[in-house]
Amino acid sequence: MRYVSTRGEAPVLDFEQAMLSGLARDGGLYLPQTVPALSGLGDLDGLPYEEVALRVIRPFTGDSFSDDELRGAIDRAYARIAHAARAPLVQLAPGHHLLELFHGPTLAFKDFAMQLIAQLFRIALARSGQRITIVGATSGDTGSAAIEAFRGIDNVDVFIMFPHGRVSEVQRRQMTTPDAPNIHALAVSGHFDDCQARLKDLFNDHAFRDRVGLAGVNSINWARVVAQVVYYVTAAASLGMRQTDFCVPTGNFGDIFAGSIARAMGVPIRRLIVATNQNDILHRALTTGDYRTGEVHPSISPSMDIQVSSNFERALYWAYGGDAGAIAQLMAELKSGGFTISQGALQALREQYLSGRVGEDETLAMIRTIREETGEVLCPHSAVGVAVARQHLEPGVPMVTLATAHPAKFPDAVERAVGIRPDLPPHMAGLFDRPERVTRVENDVEAIRSLILERRTN
Ligand SMILES: *Cc1c(COP(=O)(O)O)cnc(C)c1O
Repeated sequence: MRYVSTRGEAPVLDFEQAMLSGLARDGGLYLPQTVPALSGLGDLDGLPYEEVALRVIRPFTGDSFSDDELRGAIDRAYARIAHAARAPLVQLAPGHHLLELFHGPTLAFKDFAMQLIAQLFRIALARSGQRITIVGATSGDTGSAAIEAFRGIDNVDVFIMFPHGRVSEVQRRQMTTPDAPNIHALAVSGHFDDCQARLKDLFNDHAFRDRVGLAGVNSINWARVVAQVVYYVTAAASLGMRQTDFCVPTGNFGDIFAGSIARAMGVPIRRLIVATNQNDILHRALTTGDYRTGEVHPSISPSMDIQVSSNFERALYWAYGGDAGAIAQLMAELKSGGFTISQGALQALREQYLSGRVGEDETLAMIRTIREETGEVLCPHSAVGVAVARQHLEPGVPMVTLATAHPAKFPDAVERAVGIRPDLPPHMAGLFDRPERVTRVENDVEAIRSLILERRTN
């Protein structure tokens, strides 16, 4: 399996190289040259999650990992998800299902991909003896998932930049309390988009990139997208592999893009519905064709508070028929504020994606409604998803909404909505007692670069 950059100017890589590098050297994102069909779709219901994962992921990894290596990595990764089904599908109402992706060690769906790629990195680095420095930008959940997955892994330092004061206390403590020496939490003065921009600066500094063996585990990393394909497949299998709609609380477009891959593999997904909060660049783009950045408005669903949605570039690349030159041009225009999607590409996008946006009050109201109707307590991101899904329900077509985080990760919003503070699961007891380790840093690439050079242990 060969991977090409959406901007067409970076070397073609195999799976392991694409995983270890994250972002392509031309600033683009890696995509497989072709998406393999998944055989035996009708035989998947009732199989363990790990078995489905092996069948879904295997065709993408090519010669990078042996069957035994991949199976071992999958087993170790998902043993840490505290639910026998790993991604259980529960019913909210007739025809509407919730895919619970929050039973992992940091209580958000990010654990599914991060736990697996940490195991794959471990195998690849042990084989090559290479040492690397992972730098990540997070609005909260990616960072905690990465730190939890990579702490104590040999040959890897992990630096996570998060926007100071803009993550929840649980998210912050999940990043600042692990005491492994290879973990470094950086609180950056600025928004998530600033952290993401600084990350791109570091990747585009090729001398630095080579010097520290820079690797990225943000959702632009292809290996993460692949891992997220699996739960679309298990959900569709549970529903009998008939045409199903999926509604996905969306920020960087990684999770929903995994749904597009599942569909390209042959899984009967009818519509993928992008659910956004008040930071609705994707909803505006799909509605008007105009992709234009604005101010970030902090919300009660902070993991979706973004203005630039990185993985959307992959969807654009497909919508433009693989025209890397056109994508490079659009991304250059984005630097000065935005671009207009061509009519043909917009039509192609609309054949795959619908969208909806919900505001803060509606999100809180939906947490209340679902608690009253079902007893289930949603996190605010999942509530955005459920609210948008309810605008698009159609009789006869099952709807699956992805529940992306555990309510206990966002207790303030949940308390505002329903007056209770959800308990942390037992495996997280003690989070509020452990000391924090964190470094404040300005929103400045030079300062961040120096800090990394000074602190890395490899
Ligand atoms: C990361 C995250 C999202 C957004 O997912 P993307 O892949 O960035 O679109 C939604 N909800 C939660 C809880 C998250 O952590």
